[in-house]
Amino acid sequence: MRVLGIETSCDETGVAVYDTDIGGPAGLRAHAVYSQIALHAEYGGVVPELASRDHVRKLLPLIRQTLAEAGLGVGDIDAVAYTAGPGLVGALLVGAAVGRALAWALEVPAIGVHHMEGHLLAPLLADDPPAPPFVALLVSGGHTQLVQVDGIGRYRLLGETLDDAAGEAFDKTAKLMGLPYPGGPQLAALAAHGVPGRFRFARPMTDRPGLDFSFSGLKTQVLLAWRDSDQSEQTRADLARGFEDAVVETLAIKCARALEQVGGKTLVVAGGVGANQRLRAALTALCQARGGRACFPPPALCTDNGAMIAFAGALRLAAGQCEEPAITVWPRWDMATLPAVG
Ligand code: ATP
Ligand code: MG
Ligand code: FE
Repeated sequence: MRVLGIETSCDETGVAVYDTDIGGPAGLRAHAVYSQIALHAEYGGVVPELASRDHVRKLLPLIRQTLAEAGLGVGDIDAVAYTAGPGLVGALLVGAAVGRALAWALEVPAIGVHHMEGHLLAPLLADDPPAPPFVALLVSGGHTQLVQVDGIGRYRLLGETLDDAAGEAFDKTAKLMGLPYPGGPQLAALAAHGVPGRFRFARPMTDRPGLDFSFSGLKTQVLLAWRDSDQSEQTRADLARGFEDAVVETLAIKCARALEQVGGKTLVVAGGVGANQRLRAALTALCQARGGRACFPPPALCTDNGAMIAFAGALRLAAGQCEEPAITVWPRWDMATLPAVG
């Protein structure tokens, strides 16, 4: 079954074709992402209405491009998966309307995919994919969650952020040190030249039991240190390093705690911050020390993309799930309400 995946929940238009008959990473016949970063940069953040309009402009050309790269015609598509939430409602509606209309015209089934389930399942698009049960760390621009995964659609929230998400903290901290939007990856690149230990920030909420996070205080700590500093390039890099170390160590402490709590050895990491090299190294070492392993998607599949939507949709469609031909999106959507597979 060849599944067309469509992602339009925020500021990336993503399209992919996943072929379940091939399976594994090779099943991803083609995928393309168009990022709206340049469009939103002058506003310092995503402008929802501009995002919707740009998805309208870019989605159909991107579908044509992706099908061409896969060497397929539109008639070769057996099913359509699109992001139905959570996300910006106008942006979601573009992908949902196009996905639904295409499925209707082709007389194939379609399914609305949960964006965070897409992120969560992206690490399974690997040669030697981890099998549930495992613990998942979802670290993206809007979410920081630890989830116990007992199967596809069998998710239990172990802990989450009480304020900023990890990616949001990266972006906001970068902004207050004058880096252009979205600063997360640039802050990480700066940190590579930073002197470790020159600035040491708190590891929030690690001094008490529990698996929740709080990252909003960290950016204030960085702001104060930056304001009182010489604001040189080296200081900015040193602050970036101090901030990154604090986030990475905090996430690692809570991941170890979550694995301990559920008696697990496998950690699956997904979402944009999962592209962070220092986080990948820390979590890999942590799991190795525990005799287990940490699994990550390739960096390009950590941030928003159509491949994870095609893949997550394919798993559900293969189990016979699809929906009535109605266009429904969920700007807020609790993952614990998803039906189980099998
Ligand atoms: P959500 O999935 O919660 O709706 P989102 O889709 O905006 O949020 P993603 O696309 O998964 O989030 O990830 C984007 C986030 O990842 C941004 O906050 C960005 O700064 C962060 N990010 C990307 N690369 C890195 C990196 N190398 N180091 C740190 N953060 C990064
Ligand atoms: Mg984005
Ligand atoms: Fe995302």
